[in-house]
Amino acid sequence: MLCVIQLDEYFEKKPKDLDLWFKGVNPKFRDMEKSKYEGTGFEYGCEYETLAIEPRRYLKFIKREIENLGGHFICRSIASMDELYQDYEDSIVFVNASGIGPMTIKGLEDDKCYPNRGQNVLVRTKTDKGFSRSGEEYTYVIPRPLSGVVVCGGVNEPNKTHADIDMEIVEDEIRRAHKLAPEVISKAPDIAGYVVGIRPARKGGFRLEKEQVAKNKYILHAYGFNGKGYAFSYGAAYMVGTLVEEIEKEYTANTRKR
Ligand SMILES: Cc1cc2nc3c(=O)[nH]c(=O)nc-3n(C[C@H](O)[C@H](O)[C@H](O)COP(=O)(O)OP(=O)(O)OC[C@H]3O[C@@H](n4cnc5c(N)ncnc54)[C@H](O)[C@@H]3O)c2cc1C
Repeated sequence: MLCVIQLDEYFEKKPKDLDLWFKGVNPKFRDMEKSKYEGTGFEYGCEYETLAIEPRRYLKFIKREIENLGGHFICRSIASMDELYQDYEDSIVFVNASGIGPMTIKGLEDDKCYPNRGQNVLVRTKTDKGFSRSGEEYTYVIPRPLSGVVVCGGVNEPNKTHADIDMEIVEDEIRRAHKLAPEVISKAPDIAGYVVGIRPARKGGFRLEKEQVAKNKYILHAYGFNGKGYAFSYGAAYMVGTLVEEIEKEYTANTRKR
């Protein structure tokens, strides 16, 4: 479900330090030897260990963890936050992790949100190494733990939401994946399937903060993670937990004063 992989990342243009924010926290990070990418059109390359996730198994695991801690899942659609305030009138904290929900949910209106369609090809092949290319021809080839496939991407299609497989994108992703990692992806690889999804994007980046909407009523916003929702999930959840504790302390102190 989750495993450590070695990743080779190539950059068309030398990245700014900010783009390599993980450099200082990843002990296995190193600059790639120039001889590995010289003459290929890349200005920079790096190698590091990272985590690969098999989302379906991982999400089931997370769900079980939440249930084991006493959480309950209720699956329903809402049009307005008032529905929740009415149904859970004693609740103090509401976490808004609704992706692009704030485009339409009354009480959360955020016109910076937009859908960003993505599509992947799943290829049967053997590798425990990943490859990524940053720049104009953004491409990745990432092994999916326990499934015998690698995910080949990527594509960003802002404001598109259709679920049909676009075969032109499939062909282009295979071409780019072969160019990036010919030892792993052949010109005509064994295709195991396709993935289509909508990334919850937001102009200016994700929103992770507390909003007080009434006395003893808060919304903790955690949305707009676009193509990095899994990468940021631990940090975002940690931040939400910290904000809940902050509210709890404030609430307890105010209750004692009375
Ligand atoms: C092809 C593809 C490849 C990707 N690759 C990566 C990757 O390599 N690494 C990475 O980190 N991320 C990747 N992502 C992005 C990642 O999938 C998302 O960032 C992540 O799923 C966002 O999670 P979320 O829970 O914030 O939002 P969402 O998954 O959008 O969840 C929001 C939830 O809110 C619910 N909701 C919304 N509106 C309402 C409403 N009105 N009433 C009730 N419920 C509502 C939705 O039903 C949904 O369950 C990829 C995405 C795609 C499409």
